[in-house]
Amino acid sequence: MTCFFCKIAEGKMETDKVYEDERVIAFNDINPQAPTHILIIPKKHISTLNDLEPEDTALIGELLLVAKNIASKLGFSDDGFRTVFNCNVHGGQSVYHLHLHLLGGRQMGWPPG
Ligand code: 5GP
Ligand code: ZN
Repeated sequence: MTCFFCKIAEGKMETDKVYEDERVIAFNDINPQAPTHILIIPKKHISTLNDLEPEDTALIGELLLVAKNIASKLGFSDDGFRTVFNCNVHGGQSVYHLHLHLLGGRQMGWPPG
């Protein structure tokens, strides 16, 4: 079975894209938990944070850099925002293609649920 986020990364699935380069694509979450809720994914299939390899170090850094740039472009850098990687069952992961959540536009709570 083909991974759904891989299909998005390959351009085989319609999505509300906000950013794309050779290694990364970002799109609006279908079920937003904040006024802005964007998923930033590597085009390379990595299932979870547990599957990261040393060679992925720069790629993970790029996801965060893209998050920073989007937050700046959308104008909520100074107010602040949250970035989240959920991992496996206890982390609340539901899609098994690594993705960075970028949430902004409201006050976040802590601790997270
Ligand atoms: P997770 O729970 O794995 O950390 O996050 C998965 C996220 O993917 C959820 O926030 C969910 O709303 C989002 N999502 C699931 N299916 C789709 C989809 O088909 N399109 C988009 N844009 N987001 C999706
Ligand atoms: Zn995938």
